[in-house]
Amino acid sequence: MAACKSCDADIIWATSARSGKPMPFDATPVTHDRGVFAIVKGAASKYTPEDAKLHRDRYTCHFATCPNADQHRNPR
Ligand SMILES: [Zn+2]
Repeated sequence: MAACKSCDADIIWATSARSGKPMPFDATPVTHDRGVFAIVKGAASKYTPEDAKLHRDRYTCHFATCPNADQHRNPR
């Protein structure tokens, strides 16, 4: 488990299937379907009906929920 550097929320890192880059996700799974991802073996991909069938947890990208999201976008 990791923590966000700007808001201290618990996050988990997973590699985006689309970009191949590591992305932070909220550590707590959500129950809605909007913009959610499935994380399997450290790889994050868009949540699909297949994932639902397998009862995988839904995760949201922390960029979307971080109160300090702006800080993430600026390279230090
Ligand atoms: Zn944050």
